[in-house]
Amino acid sequence: MNIAILAGDGIGPEIIAQAVRVLDALKADGFDIELEYGLIGGCAVDATGEPYPEITHQLVSQADAVLLGAVGGPQYDGLPRPKRPERGLLAIRKALNLFANLRPAILYSELAEASSLKPEVVAGLDIMIVRELTGDIYFGEPRGIEVRDGQRIGFNTMIYSEAEIQRIAHIAFQAAQKRNRRLCSIDKMNVLECTQLWRDVVEETGKAYPDVKLSHMLVDNAAMQLVRNPKQFDVIVTGNMFGDILSDEASMLTGSIGMLPSASLDNHNKGLYEPIHGSAPDIAGKNIANPLATILSVAMMMRYTFNQEDAAQRIEKAVKRVLTQGLRTSDIASQGMQVLGTREMGDAVLSAM
Ligand code: NAD
Repeated sequence: MNIAILAGDGIGPEIIAQAVRVLDALKADGFDIELEYGLIGGCAVDATGEPYPEITHQLVSQADAVLLGAVGGPQYDGLPRPKRPERGLLAIRKALNLFANLRPAILYSELAEASSLKPEVVAGLDIMIVRELTGDIYFGEPRGIEVRDGQRIGFNTMIYSEAEIQRIAHIAFQAAQKRNRRLCSIDKMNVLECTQLWRDVVEETGKAYPDVKLSHMLVDNAAMQLVRNPKQFDVIVTGNMFGDILSDEASMLTGSIGMLPSASLDNHNKGLYEPIHGSAPDIAGKNIANPLATILSVAMMMRYTFNQEDAAQRIEKAVKRVLTQGLRTSDIASQGMQVLGTREMGDAVLSAM
């Protein structure tokens, strides 16, 4: 298992350090794990002038999987767009052809109180959001800001090809087959032609999966249904921009952005694994960030890239045990719980493993 570690910015190094301890524990138990370290985001800009330097590209191209912390920070906000840390993320996804982003939104029963919704609405929530990651308006050309008729005009292009929709639809149908066999595709076909094509192609692709019940929903309704009755969903598939927004909404249903991992896969199960949250500059360097999303990203890596279901479950069970013991980082703490720092939470997971 050749794993590239890109800690990134803000809380990235702190949370990655705890995930690396989990990998070290697996290694000590006999897994053949090799770690190599590289730069991405703001720290890469500082060192090389580029958010995704060529040396990092070579490192991740040779790796089987990549574990990433987070990128970005206010000190980089003034940089020209191509030099911004977030461009490093877009670049690595594109360079590795990571077109499928899998984001589970699971509410641990121990954390039902942490959700802003009533426990009966969210208890037992278990949704998988499959977001297309390399197309859509985030990459579409033409794009820009220019002066027309004496005033500035901003424009972007929402674009999807049939092949791009088909391949993400296949991933989503297959994910649904492994779960409760229900797939809801989200679009905005009443206004956007691009997403009319999305709906048509998902419908056609679904013919190969008669065992999966396919439904469609407009994105505005989906945003509403996610807070009204989120448990109606099993697997959701959607494009890059809608998926960006809906998956953040779904993550908040669970009470903490610090709990949720993600996987971004190519056609050969090579994957980039990262917590869904950002670099949290407001809490960086204070040893209070929640490392569990990053640790759970290692579990997803074991499952999807390395096919090591036992190792994945071992990590997930350890996290669950820690929560059952009443141990919390401050972002998920409620009354009567013991609040731990980032490193101490890492200690707790390791001892639970
Ligand atoms: P954020 O996710 O970094 O933080 C949002 C809020 O959640 C903050 O209050 C933060 O303290 C808290 N939070 C996030 N992760 C946490 C954790 N593990 N434990 C405890 N609390 C946590 O989002 P933001 O503030 O909008 O963005 C900050 C920077 O991160 C920006 O530069 C943004 O561009 C970047 N960003 C990066 C990624 C990524 O690397 N994948 C994703 C989103 C945002």
